[in-house]
Amino acid sequence: MDELLLFALCAPSGAGKTTLCRHLLETFEGFRFSVSHTTRARRGAEVDGVDYHFVSRDTFDGLVERDRFAEWAEVHGNRYGTSLDELDRARADGNTGLLFDIDHQGARQLRARVPDAITVFVLPPSMDELRRRLEGRGTDAEDEIERRLAAARDEMRHYGFFDYLIINDDFDQAAATLSAIVVAERARRRRLAQVAERLLRS
Ligand code: ADP
Ligand code: 5GP
Repeated sequence: MDELLLFALCAPSGAGKTTLCRHLLETFEGFRFSVSHTTRARRGAEVDGVDYHFVSRDTFDGLVERDRFAEWAEVHGNRYGTSLDELDRARADGNTGLLFDIDHQGARQLRARVPDAITVFVLPPSMDELRRRLEGRGTDAEDEIERRLAAARDEMRHYGFFDYLIINDDFDQAAATLSAIVVAERARRRRLAQVAERLLRS
């Protein structure tokens, strides 16, 4: 049994995934964020190696050919993937959790590769509220917001695959639910069986 909890958080844009990710990383010390590779251009204050590894399409495809991704997918015309190095690094550094901000295609691939991975889908309380949050964030033009709302519906159709759903209405409550999922997953018998066996032998 892997000590490292693989935790994929998926959501339509604007549902609050970034805010919830930040909260999770602040709450659980041993957690780290999995930095994906992407072929999309760097936006605003994003930092290479921190938010993403920004690479060319050739570099990305070379990594695919060499089977260096745990999962990868094309999202809105760009390629995104989690390199196997991210998992190796987290294990080498003794992290207890690895948080993935990936789409539903990636979550499915990750689960196929690592059946133990936990998948969580974040939903907004309503489509009106989702629009308000996208507008309130002030990062997107009106036509981009319409595009994101349509994409949100497409993404939300995949909710049925996920282990857990979190309705991000009241933020504190959603954050508490997310923390509760981590705590409960860590207490699963199969994750603690070795501890129990050690006790029996002592
Ligand atoms: P995502 O990463 O899913 O696109 P963000 O975390 O950037 O979403 O959140 C979108 C906007 O909604 C941000 O301005 C954020 O502060 C706000 N937000 C997040 N969660 C809530 C909540 N529960 N109630 C109200 N506003 C929220
Ligand atoms: P953005 O370009 O807004 O940062 O991300 C667009 C979408 O790509 C989001 O849904 C995000 O979760 C997804 N994404 C980011 N990194 C990865 C990844 O490594 N793999 C997959 N499958 N999706 C990713």
